[in-house]
Amino acid sequence: MKDFDVIVIGAGLGGLSAGALLAAQGRSVLVLEQADRIGGCCSSFERDGFHFDTGASIVEIIKPIEDVFKKLGTTLQKEVDLIPCDPVMSIIRPDGSRMTIPFSIEKTGELISSISPEDGRRWKDFVDFYSEMADVTLDTFFSMPADSMTDLFAMLGRQPRMAKYLPVFLSSYQNILQRFFKDERVLQSMGYQALYFGLPPALVPGPYAMIPYTEQMGIYYPRGGMLKIPEALQRMGERFGMQVRLNTTVEKVVVRDQRAQSVILADGTEITARVVVSNINARTLYQKLVGEEYLKPISRKGIRSYAYSKAVPMLYLGVDYEPPLEAHHNLIAASPEDINQYWWKHVETGQLDYETIGLICWPSHTDASLAPKGKHVINLIPEGFYNLAEGNWDDLKEEYIQKELDYYSRFAIPGLKEHVQYVECSTPLDYERRLCLPEGAIYAFQQDLTAQAIFRPAARSKNIRGLYLTGASTHPGGGVPSTIASGMIAANLIEKYEQ
Ligand SMILES: Cc1cc2nc3c(=O)[nH]c(=O)nc-3n(C[C@H](O)[C@H](O)[C@H](O)COP(=O)(O)OP(=O)(O)OC[C@H]3O[C@@H](n4cnc5c(N)ncnc54)[C@H](O)[C@@H]3O)c2cc1C
Repeated sequence: MKDFDVIVIGAGLGGLSAGALLAAQGRSVLVLEQADRIGGCCSSFERDGFHFDTGASIVEIIKPIEDVFKKLGTTLQKEVDLIPCDPVMSIIRPDGSRMTIPFSIEKTGELISSISPEDGRRWKDFVDFYSEMADVTLDTFFSMPADSMTDLFAMLGRQPRMAKYLPVFLSSYQNILQRFFKDERVLQSMGYQALYFGLPPALVPGPYAMIPYTEQMGIYYPRGGMLKIPEALQRMGERFGMQVRLNTTVEKVVVRDQRAQSVILADGTEITARVVVSNINARTLYQKLVGEEYLKPISRKGIRSYAYSKAVPMLYLGVDYEPPLEAHHNLIAASPEDINQYWWKHVETGQLDYETIGLICWPSHTDASLAPKGKHVINLIPEGFYNLAEGNWDDLKEEYIQKELDYYSRFAIPGLKEHVQYVECSTPLDYERRLCLPEGAIYAFQQDLTAQAIFRPAARSKNIRGLYLTGASTHPGGGVPSTIASGMIAANLIEKYEQ
C-alpha cells in the first residue's frame, strides 16, 4: 500500500496543473515544494507595501489555461480576474523614439501603415496566416503529447490542417518576419518577442513568429499579481483533496525494477507513491534525483546534451511617482539583426552589456492595488545571462543595480533614480538558488528546433515507469500557458497508462 497515488515534485505551474487534474481524477495527490511559496517562476511577493512578481509578468495565449480550468469543472475567468493590457505594449527604439501598439488588429494595421503602407498591407496577410495557424496549433501542438512520432501523427490526425504549417518549423522567426515586413522600424517592433522563447530571432523556430499576432488575441495580467494563477490551481486541486507541502525538498527519486517507487526528502523521510510527477528541471531530475545509472546509454547521452535556456536578471523597484511610460510592457527594442548581434557578441562570450535591450514591466499601470496610493511598482528585465566572462553575479550585484538604474533613468524612464524607494535584484544566480533553476534557466532548456516536441524530454519517461514530467523541461516548453498545458498532458497520460 502506497502513501499516495501521486507525488508531484515542485509547485510550479506544471506541477500544480498536473496535481489538480490528477486529484480531479480521484487520485490522492501530494505536491512537495522546496520554497516557502508556490508558483516557482510565476509567483509574487510583498515588500514595504509593494507587490512584485518573481518572474513572469504577463500571460498570453490563454486557451490552454482555459482548457485546464474547464477540466477542473470551472472557468479561468471565474477563478482569476484577468485584466487585459491595453495598449499591448510600448516599443522604445534605439534612437529613443517610441511606438505604442494598441490592443486592436485594425488600429495596429493603421499604425504600421503610417510607417510603411506596404508593411501595413502585409500586416493583414500576416494576421490571416497566423490566425489560422494559431487555431490549428493551439488545439493540437499545445495540448497533446509529443513524446514520439506516433504522437505527432496523432496531432496530424486530429488536425490535418497542421500539415500546411510544417514547413514553418524549418524556418526561423527572423525569416518569417522578414518575409512579411521590410521597414526597419516595423521589424524593431516585432523582433524582441523572439527572446520570449529564449533565443535570438535567427534561432527561434518560425511558428513562434506568431507572437506579434497572438499579442493581439490579448495580453493579460491577473489582478493581485501573477501568483493568482498558481493559487487558483492550488485552490482547485485542494477541492479535490490535493495536498501541498512547502519548505520540503525532494532529494531522491527511488527507482526499483525501472519503476519509480518513492521520494526521499532532505530530512531523510521516505514517501511512497504509485506515480511520481516531476516539475523540476529534467537534467536535475535524471542526473541527481534519479541517477544516470537508471538511464539507457542513449538517454544518458541525450539528457547531458540539453543546453540550459537563457537566464535573466530582474530588478524589482518600488517608486514614489508615476513613471513616464506608456504601457504594462515596454520593450527596449532593436531590429532582429541587432538582437542576433547582441546574442553572438554578449551572450555567447559572457561580456555583460549594461546598456542593452530589455523589458520594462509596469504592473501597477494595470492593477493600481499593487502599490500604496500614489506609488508604483516597476520590474526591469535587462537581457542578461548566467555565465560571466569575469567575476560572478554575487560580486557584481550592487554595481549592476546602480548601472542599470543609471541607464534606465537616462534612456527610458526619466526621473527613475530619484524616485526609487525600494530596490531588490534577482540575478541568474539568485534564481538558481531560490528556485533550483540550473544556471538560472528560465525556460529549462534552449527552445531551438533540436529541443522541441519529440526532441525535448518526454512527458512519460522512456526509462522509468511511473515517472512523468511537467513544466518547462518537457513539451510544449517554457512559458505560463505551455507549462500549464504540460500539466494537462501529463495528467492525460497518467489517466491512460496508470490505472
Ligand atoms: C524572469 C522571468 C520572466 C518570465 N516572464 C514570463 C512571462 O511574462 N510570460 C510567460 O508566459 N512566461 C514567463 N516566464 C516563464 C514562466 O514563468 C516559466 O516558464 C514557468 O512559470 C515555469 O513553470 P514550471 O512548471 O516549469 O515550474 P517552475 O516555475 O520552474 O517551478 C518549479 C518548482 O519546483 C520547485 N523545486 C525545484 N526543485 C525541487 C525539489 N528538489 N524539491 C521540491 N521542490 C523543488 C521550485 O522551487 C519551483 O517552485 C518568465 C520566467 C522568468 C524567470
